[in-house]
Amino acid sequence: SAMRHLPYFCRGEVVKGFGRGSRELGVPTANFSEQVVERFPSDIPTGIYYGWACVGNGDVHKMVLSIGWNPFYKNIKKSVETHIINTFKEDFYGEILSIVIIGYIRSEKNFNSLETLISAIREDIEEAKRQLDLPEHLKLKDSFFHLPEGKIVNH
Ligand code: ADP
Ligand code: MG
Repeated sequence: SAMRHLPYFCRGEVVKGFGRGSRELGVPTANFSEQVVERFPSDIPTGIYYGWACVGNGDVHKMVLSIGWNPFYKNIKKSVETHIINTFKEDFYGEILSIVIIGYIRSEKNFNSLETLISAIREDIEEAKRQLDLPEHLKLKDSFFHLPEGKIVNH
């Protein structure tokens, strides 16, 4: 059912998250605003996805994405968070993040320990890297990005 919506293109401002310490885990996640999340298909399943991402007019990088229930809003709203598989010199709050979601990795899980959470995230990143090297996924790398100014797909 996730695949029905994919590939899904989305663009929006990077906002402050809720300090859940993803940076301390070595996995910072760029959060989309509530308004961007509200435009997502309501039936897109929560879980971990992979795809391509680009900050402003920068290079296109591999990414892993989490669509989850947002504890800040008592789990009645979704949060959409992108970890870009690239090392950035600085934070990019306020910048426009463009993503294309291509494939589904797994559903949301609860972890008993920080160690199991971190190892699951590492596996997700490795799986995303492998998937995105496939020719059918590589070809989406450029086709969705660098659209004319103001052109937004999917809404
Ligand atoms: P927050 O709770 O504010 O989302 P995080 O710890 O999740 O804080 O860090 C996210 C921020 O880190 C992003 O908004 C972005 O500015 C910055 N950042 C730096 N490198 C990355 C990266 N590789 N992927 C995603 N965000 C990154
Ligand atoms: Mg975050």
